[in-house]
Amino acid sequence: MTTFKIFRFVNPYKNANTYVVQIDEHDVLIIDLGNYPTTEFVNWLKHHNKNIVGLILTHEHADHCYGVDALKDYYDFNLYCSEACAINMRDPKQNYSRYIEEFETFAVKSKAIIVKDNDMLNFSGFQLRVMETPGHSPGSICLFFENGVFTGDTILNNVKTPLSFPHSNKLDYKKSKKIIMENLQSHTTIYPGHDASFLDNSFIK
Ligand SMILES: [Zn+2]
Repeated sequence: MTTFKIFRFVNPYKNANTYVVQIDEHDVLIIDLGNYPTTEFVNWLKHHNKNIVGLILTHEHADHCYGVDALKDYYDFNLYCSEACAINMRDPKQNYSRYIEEFETFAVKSKAIIVKDNDMLNFSGFQLRVMETPGHSPGSICLFFENGVFTGDTILNNVKTPLSFPHSNKLDYKKSKKIIMENLQSHTTIYPGHDASFLDNSFIK
């Protein structure tokens, strides 16, 4: 039986989620970091003597990747994301920090390991399957694991996914959503990029 635990930290901008998967006593995997790592967040990691085994970005938008470079000041870890995310996060016009007043204009500089559709990732025994799900943004991915899925902004809690960014693609989104729906099991908990996790598919708009 697996014993991992998932903690949710809410970032101030748009209440974007950072998930910390506690894989075992010391190893944690992080999904998205949309804020400069706060003292609370770093203290939590330090206090629990955590080792970051990886950080995966669900997509390139500023509210999901703003804190990545800053966390490198505290920890050495590998960054993972899709190819399009790796390109767009380095462009303030494509990560949208240029247009969002709450952020300084920034480009993520950290090197990324590119993940592709159907890749299986293994972090100290915690396995995730990558699904490329473009639509909301070109670099969006979902990450399926044992009984859950991290969906970034591709599936949200009771809210329609915004497809109004210049780089959004409605046709791609339709295809991505269809594949996600086909892969959801009755016991799959959805961990969206904003708001609380949920199990009931009727919350998918
Ligand atoms: Zn987004």
